[in-house]
Amino acid sequence: MKYFKPDFALHHFSDITPKWLERYNIKTIFSDLDSTLAIHNKLGDKEVEQWIEMLREEKVTLVIVSNNNQSRVDKFCNPYQIHGYGHCNKPTVTEIQKHMRTVGATKETSLFLGDQVFTDVWCGKRLGMKTGLVAPIGAEHEPIQIKVKRKVENIIRKFW
Ligand SMILES: [Mg+2]
Repeated sequence: MKYFKPDFALHHFSDITPKWLERYNIKTIFSDLDSTLAIHNKLGDKEVEQWIEMLREEKVTLVIVSNNNQSRVDKFCNPYQIHGYGHCNKPTVTEIQKHMRTVGATKETSLFLGDQVFTDVWCGKRLGMKTGLVAPIGAEHEPIQIKVKRKVENIIRKFW
């Protein structure tokens, strides 16, 4: 069960601050989109905009890696001019390894951020990155299959 345990259990992406990034030597963040940075299928809010600006100032590269489609990812990413990839097939690693090469990221200085244990945390672990799990944003907007998955996750968490 430890295999699914994230390195960092966070409440929200904003827990990641300049100090935090420096402490753990993070240069690239591979982040899930839906329920991690925004409500499912919604655009980003003011808070995410400020957070992305902070990352830019700290020279930390943000890469959105989503299992959702590319047009959803583009809609979110375009206003901020950040890297964003859809159809990532998490928790498999092939697609994301390609994106790591594209942005020149190394696993030692990368963080994988997401709200789902079996999708995001597992994927980050397989990639050899540090992993951060956040509480889902706007969980009531999620599709039914994700709600079911969360019930299973809650059982797994009891064994950590
Ligand atoms: Mg998600």
